Amino acid sequence: MDLDKRQRAMLREMGVRLWQPPSPPPVAADDAINTVAVGARLERAEARFDAEAAPARGAPAPALRPVPAQAPVARPAPGLQPRPAGVELMDWPALQAAVAGCRACALCESRKNTVFGIGPVAADGAAPQVDWLIVGEAPGENEDIAGEPFVGQAGKLLDNMLLAIGLQRGNADATAPRAGVSTSVFITNVLKCRPPANRNPDPAEVAQCEPYLKRQVELLQPKMILALGKFAAQSLLQDSVPELHKIPLGKLRGQVFRYLGVPVVVSYHPAYLLRSLGDKAKAWDDLCLALNVAPTVVRSA
Ligand code: URA
Repeated sequence: MDLDKRQRAMLREMGVRLWQPPSPPPVAADDAINTVAVGARLERAEARFDAEAAPARGAPAPALRPVPAQAPVARPAPGLQPRPAGVELMDWPALQAAVAGCRACALCESRKNTVFGIGPVAADGAAPQVDWLIVGEAPGENEDIAGEPFVGQAGKLLDNMLLAIGLQRGNADATAPRAGVSTSVFITNVLKCRPPANRNPDPAEVAQCEPYLKRQVELLQPKMILALGKFAAQSLLQDSVPELHKIPLGKLRGQVFRYLGVPVVVSYHPAYLLRSLGDKAKAWDDLCLALNVAPTVVRSA
């Protein structure tokens, strides 16, 4: 479409940007044969533009679409990287290293430490041999600093509850366990990094972290998983319990579910029990149910 200078100036005033065919790249002598085709293509494109721009006589003018300066490009947030590939095939040390270096969600920006979990240390770097796996929600402030799960007030309560059934968390520093007490337990969380200000885990963060928990279960092969609180229950049972999000935690208690074939018992989160002392007796019942299904054994190191 040929527009004179005045028409172009008017359109510019109205904010209408005119499409300009890109100038063809310089043509080398050998490519000269293609210039006819390129020129024809540009002419066709220009004609199409003119036809779209010029409304049929009498028809209302079509709304002008703003021309985006640049097509939006999906980029990961700065500083984030995809989760390391092949988590589902990793051995225990590789999995520990993958969690330690994970930058797959924004929690990596605010964490002090990742919290992989705690349990007995196997001599050859293999996954520890444990009877029980305990899954909490996410590290809090103390856990973020220590790099170990359940070290705050809720952790003290958990330790006391476990001791009452003859279980003690394994020590990273291999301190000798009490006589007759089993260390056959691994303690971890759904999230391996602390959500800022102890807010609830975000579904996207849970989704990023889930493969780590799944691989921990595959490698540990526990005889029992104790899911503490709503987030642990949801993460472990989402594929096996329909309408899970509608079921209150209390209604998930007293049953034995399965995750990757491993029995799962749901109980209250120790932080909740600190505020609701009346429910401690129910948590005791949950421990007894889990113990009935999967007794723990005292193993000598
Ligand atoms: N709450 C959890 O769920 N996990 C921890 O490690 C500490 C507090």
